[in-house]
Amino acid sequence: MIGLMGGTFDPVHYGHLRPALEIAEALQLSEVRFIPVKLPALKDKPQSKVDDRLQMVQLAIENQSGFVLDDREIQREGYSYTIDTLQSLSRELPDQTFCFLLGADAFNQFREWKDWQEILQLAHLVVSHRPSHGLTPITDWKEAEWITSIDDLHSSKSGKILPFAVTQLEISSTFIREQVRKRKAITYLLPDKVENYIKEKYLYQ
Ligand code: ATP
Ligand code: MG
Repeated sequence: MIGLMGGTFDPVHYGHLRPALEIAEALQLSEVRFIPVKLPALKDKPQSKVDDRLQMVQLAIENQSGFVLDDREIQREGYSYTIDTLQSLSRELPDQTFCFLLGADAFNQFREWKDWQEILQLAHLVVSHRPSHGLTPITDWKEAEWITSIDDLHSSKSGKILPFAVTQLEISSTFIREQVRKRKAITYLLPDKVENYIKEKYLYQ
């Protein structure tokens, strides 16, 4: 089973990394692919350049075994849709089961994602609790099955939704960008290497 962690990662921080690691360990994922979005359809264009976001994710995960960078959304033109990413991964790795990892805030918007029912036909969803965000279950589509146990993920290749209690870290990229702009410290919110990269490249000023 492979975990897929999509995001803007502008910049990547411990609120992405720690939940991904906790889920990877609990679900015994063979790997977690971090998939930076090129052009999100439902939120503003990222502030920093694609190369900087890729580089920051690479620095953040390079010493963690099982964490890998997947740049297929960056390589595609136009809006980045998760359905396209999942179709391409399923073609590449037809025997794999995919768990798409997302936080509660992203999950609550999930029904606005392009072809969300089809996404659930290609992957399970693992939803991390996130501070200040409740979870709104999907009740109007019977093929989406809310589960409470990790074991239930193994009974099919897709369509299960597992809410998952991770260590609650009230960290967001928005807050980090604001801190940089105000010339305040961002230490302890994200890996040192990413902090240094932001400083060297004068990002978010
Ligand atoms: P921004 O403030 O720019 O929206 P963000 O911190 O929300 O950035 P994203 O790149 O938008 O980060 O998020 C990528 C994924 O990581 C989403 O599924 C989101 O829900 C999840 N996520 C982000 N921060 C946290 C956190 N602190 N705890 C749990 N999940 C998180
Ligand atoms: Mg966000």
